This record gives sequence, structure tokens and C-alpha cells, in this order.
Amino acid sequence: LRPSSICADCSAADPTWASINRGVLICDECCSVHRSLGRHVSQVRSIRRGQWSPTQHAMLYQLANHGANNIWEHQLKDPSQNKHGRKKPASKDPLHPNKADFIRAKYQFLSFVNKQKESDVNSIDDVSKELHSSVRTNNVETCLRLLSKGADPNYFHKEKGNCPLHVAAQAGQVAQVELLVVYGADPGALDVNNKSPIDYARIGGFSDIADRLIECQYELTDRLAFHVCGRKPDHRNGQNFIIPEIGDNSTSDLSELDKQAKKKLQALTNHLFEELAMDVYDEVDRRENDKIWLETQDHSAVSDRTTVPFLPVNPDLSTTRNQGRQKLARFNKREFTTLIIDILNDARRRQTGFTSPVNTPKEHSKLFLLTSDRLHSLGAFSDEEPLYDSVASDEDYSSIDTHSVQSMRSMNSEAIEGPVSTDEYMEVKKALAGAETTIKTLVHKKTDLEQKVHIMQSTDGNVPNGFTADENDEISQGGIPSVMMDSVSSTHSMPGGAVGVPVDLPEPEEVVKKTEKITKRIQDLLKRAQEGDIKSYNPCSDRIFMAVTEMEALFPRNIPKEEVFHSLQLLKDSANRLRIECQHLASDSKQSTTQVIQCAYDVAKAAKQLVTL
Ligand SMILES: [Zn+2]
Repeated sequence: LRPSSICADCSAADPTWASINRGVLICDECCSVHRSLGRHVSQVRSIRRGQWSPTQHAMLYQLANHGANNIWEHQLKDPSQNKHGRKKPASKDPLHPNKADFIRAKYQFLSFVNKQKESDVNSIDDVSKELHSSVRTNNVETCLRLLSKGADPNYFHKEKGNCPLHVAAQAGQVAQVELLVVYGADPGALDVNNKSPIDYARIGGFSDIADRLIECQYELTDRLAFHVCGRKPDHRNGQNFIIPEIGDNSTSDLSELDKQAKKKLQALTNHLFEELAMDVYDEVDRRENDKIWLETQDHSAVSDRTTVPFLPVNPDLSTTRNQGRQKLARFNKREFTTLIIDILNDARRRQTGFTSPVNTPKEHSKLFLLTSDRLHSLGAFSDEEPLYDSVASDEDYSSIDTHSVQSMRSMNSEAIEGPVSTDEYMEVKKALAGAETTIKTLVHKKTDLEQKVHIMQSTDGNVPNGFTADENDEISQGGIPSVMMDSVSSTHSMPGGAVGVPVDLPEPEEVVKKTEKITKRIQDLLKRAQEGDIKSYNPCSDRIFMAVTEMEALFPRNIPKEEVFHSLQLLKDSANRLRIECQHLASDSKQSTTQVIQCAYDVAKAAKQLVTL
């Protein structure tokens, strides 16, 4: 059996989807999990119905058939690294939790990649240099492995004076060119001789590669145009943009709102404009994959858990940006088309408007690239970043209270939208009035409940468990060790318990309180890590896990808000991973500490995300 004839995750026959950046083919079911993780983890495309360039398609099959999957499952195949006997799910196993958990561990947390010492001592500089020299060969799996270790696709080799893409283009290695571009390599980057990879492809006599690289430079705007009108610009004949028009003639009659939106778009800095364009690109990708998904599935297979109703949270982006990305799903077709056309117009204006000599060609071609920082999470297990510092010194984590969360929020939205307009003010005022009504209703309900409890107490003396939680909390402040408290307070949150299971989203103050608890315990762990007290990692991580369980207990089983569901899931996953990491500490204490700190950092990040939603 060729690897490309079975699903890389569950071995089901005849996979119909591909994960381009992972170089694997996957079945429909597994694809639904890949999609729910977001493009920063897995870039999926339908094998038969997606838009492929022939060379990209060939690159994918070369990777799939030459064992790219072994990169992501290395530990499962190496007995010395698979002490816990973990194995992959079979096609008959249920999607949730078996396949979904496995896929998350495999691609989101890179739990099974080779983490042997030999590979860990390599710095990003070393693996990037290795990538720089490997791209002149046709061994594309080796390069994917190096990229999986965090090699920089735009690494500038000081001695050689160029980047990997220059080398691959000049050597005519078309599959390497395709792979590097998927990972964010810049076709317009200049080497010491002021030449781009496109120039070197032409010098080497590979005009097909040069043409393809020009296409890649315009991938973002081309995809947006194609989504609206089904055509792409003819770059070979110097046409770099198509600006589609809306069928009805209403564009000439712009509403005041449309004009304002256009002005706002034009006022964005290049950086913010680029971010917005990339978010819209991701949304186009989501919508197109969703369409294919719905057209190819039995209706019985389409459920809440297999569709992706809006862009999944990317923890590397700010909460505000994640919220903005998710709002794109609310645009109806006409609104979304209008937004795309505005972006295409402004992209052309920005590119052709760049005539001032301070803007080098390199900067201006970068504007339309899918930059590599979207794949940042691939380097997650590198120890280059001062992770410890970023947690310990980050005020976001040390003193989270409702006030600071609110001011963080308003700062974020101000940074993006500028001064508050009358409309926005009215909207806030309306929201406040709504909140006031809700509070009044809640106070009313509370009084009602108190009366009921009072009646029950006076008739029976026995009060159901759920109502005693507050009293327990008071006792805990009186000096009972908090470890004992955990076992007491978690009893009312056991899954399946009929009493005390919440039905509504919790009050923000409650979430903040639990976040503080989690944060305090993370700080405790980090303090121990600083002292090199490895023995205490395990109990510390257990305490963090318990705090996360308490947080989870605040939420109803069926969370009505999708982004809250995802954030909570991320928090649980991170805490679980931290606990597992602490239970299986490697003999090399420095390496274990790095791993543990990374995991703790993920928990903190997830908690922060939840509290700001
Ligand atoms: Zn599968």
C-alpha cells in the first residue's frame, strides 16, 4: 500500500483531503478535526475539488509517498521513545474523542515528533543552515523535517549572502520551491546582489519556476479575486490584479456607511491592512472548504462537530484579532464580496502607490505574502524564546482582575479603530442598558432561590450539595489546606452529577477568580522551576489541573458560544498536557524544565484568552 492511499491519521482507505503544510493525505472525518484546529496548524485542501497548481500537487504526493507522516509520528515508531505504548487510532475508532485527541496531539502539540537529545541541541540557526543547503537536493522530506524543527524558510545565510528560496530556485528544485512557499518563504526577497529568487530561476533557465514564483507572490489577492469572479490575473502578460464588479449597479450609489468603511480601510497602516487581508484570505479558505464539505457529505455526517462555522482561535493572535476574524463569518455573501473588492482595490492602490525611494521593492512585495509567522506554532518546541521571562514579567498574567481586563480590551479596540464614534458610543450605551436589565432579572432570581433554600432548610434541614459551595469557599479562607479544598469543592462539579451543573455561562467575576487561581498556581510552578526543584513539578501541575477543572465546572456542558467552547477546550488540553509532561519527566532536567515551562505558558495563554472573551 502506498502511503497516499490511506488516511495518515486513522488509516482509512481513499483519503480525499490533503494537509499541504504537513504533507499528508487524510480522510473526511480526520479532515474535520484538522479544520477545527485552524490553518496555523493544518492547511487542508480537497484533493479533487480544491484549486491546485500542478507543481504544488506533485510536491504534496512526493511528501506523502516518501514518509512525511513519519515526521509527525516519529515517537510512535521508535520503541525507545514510546515507553507508554501510545498508538494511533484505527479507522473504525470513534472520531470523538479517539481520533480528535490523537490529531490534536500529533499536529497541534507535536507530541510525537522526534525529541531525542541529538535533535534538540540544534539551534534554529543550525537547522536553518541545514535547510539552506538541503534545498538544492530533491529530498523534500528532509526539508519538511527541518521546517518542523523550526528552520526559518526566510533564513538569510550570512556567508552565502542569500536565502533558501534563492538556492532552490537557482537549482531548479521545483518541489522545494513549493514547500518553502507554503511555509512562508518570500519570492521577492533580495540577496546580497540585489536579486530575488525569481531572478535566479530565470538565470538558471527555469522560466516555469520564475512564473510560478510570481503567481505565489500574488497568491493572496489572486485567491480573493478568484473567490468572487472565478478568474485569476494573467501575470505572464503583466496583469497583476483583477478587480471584480458587483453585478447590480448599486456600487455607484455608495451608502454613507460604505464610504466610511472604505476610508477606514485606506487609513490602515500597511501592517494592519496586511493582517486584515490575511484574515479575509483565511475566511475565503474556510468558506470554500465548507462548501465542498457540505456538498460531499451525507447529511447524517454533517453535525455541529464536523462543520467549522467560523475561523478557529489562533492562540498566537490577540483576542481582539481572533474576535475580528470570527466576525467575518457573519458577513453575508454580498457584504463579504464588497469587502473583498475594497481590499483588492486598496491592495492595488498600495502597491502601485509605492513609488517613494524609501520603500525598497522587498518591502512592497512582502505586503501580499502569507508570511511565515502564521506558522509560528511549528517552532513551539524550540528553546530559543525566553519563555520563562515572558510569563513571569507579563503583567497580563500576574494581576488579572475585571478592571484590567476591561482596560486591556478597550486599549486593543482603540488601537485598531481609532477614536470612538457616536454610533459606537450609542451601541455601548445600549449594551449597558441590556446588561442592567439582565442584572435586575438575576437579582430577582437570586432572591427567589434564597427563599426556596430557606423553605427547604426549615422543612428538612438537608440542602442539596450544589448550594453549599459558597460555604465551602468561606471555610477555605479560614485556613484549611487548599489541596483538601480541591477535593471538597470538586465534588459538586463531577461530570454527570444532576445537582450543581450550570446551565448558563458563568459570571465574568467567577471566571476571573478561577483564572487568578490558575495563574497563582502557574507562578508557583515557575518559581519551583527557577529553583530547579524538579520533584515539585508533578504536585504543582496537579494543582494547576485541579484549578482548571474548577474553571471547567463553571461552564455548562453545552456551551452556547463557540469561541468560549474552543478556548475552554484549549485550556483543558494545555493543562492535561502539562500534567502528562510532569508525570513523564525526562532524565535531562534542563530539557524537561524547558518543556514544562512551555506547557505552563500555554495554560496561562489559554486562561487569558478565556477571561478576555
Ligand atoms: Zn482518517
